[in-house]
This record gives sequence, structure tokens and C-alpha cells, in this order.
Amino acid sequence: MQPNIIARPQHPISRSLIDRDVVNILYRLKHAGYQAYIVGGAVRDILRGEQPKDFDIATDARPMELRRMFRNSRIIGRRFRLVHIFFGHKNIEVATLRETVQPDVDEELLQTEAHLRLDDERMWGTVESDALRRDFTCNALYYSIDDFSILDYVGGVEDVHANILRSIGDPAIRFCEDPVRMLRAVKFAARFGFRIAEQTAVAMLQCAGEITKASRFRVTEEVFRILMQKNRHQGLAMLRDYNLLDHLFPTWLEAIGAEGLDQVIEFFDTVEHHSGQGNFLPLEVLTAGLFLPMLDEVEVESRNYTDHAAAMTQEVRDIARDMDLPKRLVSSVIILLRGQLYMLYLANRPRQISKFVANREFDWIWRLHDLAFGHLPQLHIIQERWLSERERLPTPLGGWVDHPDQRDIFSFRGITGGGRRRADEPASIIVDSDTGAGRSRRRRRRRR
Ligand code: ATP
Ligand code: MG
Repeated sequence: MQPNIIARPQHPISRSLIDRDVVNILYRLKHAGYQAYIVGGAVRDILRGEQPKDFDIATDARPMELRRMFRNSRIIGRRFRLVHIFFGHKNIEVATLRETVQPDVDEELLQTEAHLRLDDERMWGTVESDALRRDFTCNALYYSIDDFSILDYVGGVEDVHANILRSIGDPAIRFCEDPVRMLRAVKFAARFGFRIAEQTAVAMLQCAGEITKASRFRVTEEVFRILMQKNRHQGLAMLRDYNLLDHLFPTWLEAIGAEGLDQVIEFFDTVEHHSGQGNFLPLEVLTAGLFLPMLDEVEVESRNYTDHAAAMTQEVRDIARDMDLPKRLVSSVIILLRGQLYMLYLANRPRQISKFVANREFDWIWRLHDLAFGHLPQLHIIQERWLSERERLPTPLGGWVDHPDQRDIFSFRGITGGGRRRADEPASIIVDSDTGAGRSRRRRRRRR
């Protein structure tokens, strides 16, 4: 197949827009006689006029050859071997051009270290085969360091300019092969405001049920990327419209109902509005937003707080387990949600109010409340009480972060997948609590 070649004068990618270490790697590969390209998200992002968050390299050099050429490198992955080249804390991913369909691998061999040194010739391919195995046309563009042109085997440049997200190959086959691609379709379409090409959209509706076969781990990760990125409210609405939520989180959907889902989408719309103004929220607060509808139907009387909070906590824990959310994240979410009840139930207790606003997580609780319920006139008197008490403290009301939260849900799991934290990982923002949830946990610990 002949690629569409977009010569340097016809596209905006210049070396000055590319990370210097990446350019150096590309040149070292070129001078050693290899082909070297930037591929994937970075080419797409620059074509769209955006700054890429990282640059992936593709080359015809094999992993072992790369390992020998770059002393500061490591081979990672067993099934899909990649090479990471390290520059201080930064690592740059270099992948060898692959065949479209990967050969079957011997699972037993995969478990052995010897596999890392084996080279299955059938794995490796050309730019063309490598392009055809990728998910969407916008993600399959190659910027060549040889003549600075872009190689396009799939019509990706045209699709990027026309704002279209299109599967490569037969979309139904591609979605069955890897159902997570449907979530990726929503992720990219929402983030860029792309229209999903008709055949791709039809296949998504057809294949939605396949998503239950995908790894829960990857699924949760992609869903949270959608919730953390730009246009998250539209992403969530698309997940609903493509029937993906029905299959992904049936227990959650049942608990919150269709109206509850509208409320959650509205919440994310408000979040989006604030992030447009440079006010960002951490993952914990956004995740708590998923459970806001479960706070409804409160009979607000202070003596009911404990019972209601306990029932809600149990319900959220059960649903979150079904959703496969990391326990450490769920604990923070529960603190935030119990805080919402606390604010409603204990608004007539001045002493409680002044103690509660001094908690270090109060500001997050307040932000969540304000985003979710700030617009309700019947709550203005209560809000006034909390806010005026908070304003008596010397520190100004915070609760925003300056940058989009870079942690992904993966960082809450630790290596074991069970919620343990690695030493180099960011801590949860909500570490301790004087709300009901935190107190009872501490009391239990002391008793032991
Ligand atoms: P982002 O800006 O979100 O990182 P990206 O395009 O770089 O977007 P990655 O998830 O980092 O996305 O993947 C890098 C590239 O690998 C993609 O551009 C795509 O070409 C390819 N890819 C990733 N996942 C799949 C998949 N499930 N099926 C086929 N190709 C994939
Ligand atoms: Mg990427």
C-alpha cells in the first residue's frame, strides 16, 4: 500500500516542538542506519495545535539492539516488548515496528527470563503493518526524522483535520479483538470534540456488551481517564449513550437511577466549567461526585446522622467494590460523602460546626458541596453558617488544586493492585479525618 506522504512544508511538526532528548534518540537511530519515527498521540496532538504530553518513538531496531545502543535503557513488557530510555526522572518509550497480527506466544515461555532475549521474527513488521495494528486513524501517523515528512497509511491526517474518530480496519472486528478500544474511542472523541465515524459508532453500539470481557483493571483506568480529562461531562454522556455504562457499572446505575445519572453528568459539567477557569479538583473529589445521588432523600435531623451515614457508607462500599475501585480511593470518597451529610445534619450545632471546619479535609468537603448543591436556594442559610464559621479561621478557604490531577487510578492501587502504596507514589490528599468515618476507624484501631 502506498502511504500518503505529507512533506515538511505541508504540516506543522518541527523539531523545535519535540522534546530535545527525543530528537537526540531519533538522530542516533538514524545515524546507526535505522528508521526512526515519532508515532501516536504526539503527532496527532501537534497536528491539532496542542502540546503533546509525551513522545513515543517507533523504529525498525529490535529491542536488544536498542538496549545495546542506549546504556540508559531497559526492556519492559513480556508480550509486547518495549524499551524505555531514561533521562533522569523522564523515560522515553521506544517500540519496534510490529506486525499487524501478532504471532501466538507460548504462555509458559513468557514466564521465563529467557523470553526476554528471544526474538520472534514474526513479531516485527514495517511502518505499514505497525500502522494497521493501531486503534484509530488519528493515532497511526508517523513523523519521520529522515525527511521530516508524515507517513499516513490510514487517512489519519484528513480525519484529524475533519475532527473524525475512525477505527482502523473493520470496527466490529477491532472492538471484539480488544473491547477497551470502545472506551478509548469515547475518551478521544470527548477530549477532542471529534465525531465518531458512522461505521465505528454502529460497531460500538453492536459490541457494547463485549466490554464485560475486558480486563477490569484496564476498563477502570480508561473510565477514570475520561472523568479526569477535558469535556468529562460529554465523555460520561457518551458512555451512557453507547450503552457502555449499562455493562460496566450495572449496580451503580441501578442505585442512582437515570435521574441520578443526569445529576452526575451535571456535576461533571460544573467541574468542567471550573477547570476552564483554572480551578482543578483532585481525583478523590471527582470520584465522590459519582455517588452524589445516593445522598438524596435525607431526613435532616441531627440524631439521624449516624444511622444515615452508616447505611450510606455500606451502600457506597458495596457498589464501589462492584465497580472495582481501589479501596484507598473509596475510603477518601466516603469521608467526603459523610462530610456532605454532616454539613446538612449538623448545621444547627454551632460547636460541631466550628470543630468540623477546622478539619483539614473540610475545604474539599465544602468544594464538593458547593459544586453539587451550591445552586439550591433552600440550602443557602445552612451554607452561610458553614462558610462564615470557616472564614473565621486564619487560612483562606482552599480546596482547589492549581493543575489537573496527574495521578491516575492506577496510582491508588500500588503494585499489588490491592491498594498498597508505593514509596514513590503521591499520597492521597485526604489522609486523616475527624468525620464520623475517620473517627470510628481510629477508635477501632486503638481498641486492637
Ligand atoms: P494519550 O494522549 O491519551 O496518551 P495516546 O494516543 O498516546 O493518547 P496511548 O494510550 O498512550 O494513547 O497509546 C499510544 C498509542 O498506542 C496510540 O496512539 C495507539 O496508536 C496505540 N494503542 C494504544 N492502545 C491501543 C489499543 N488498545 N489498540 C491498538 N492500538 C493501541
Ligand atoms: Mg500516550
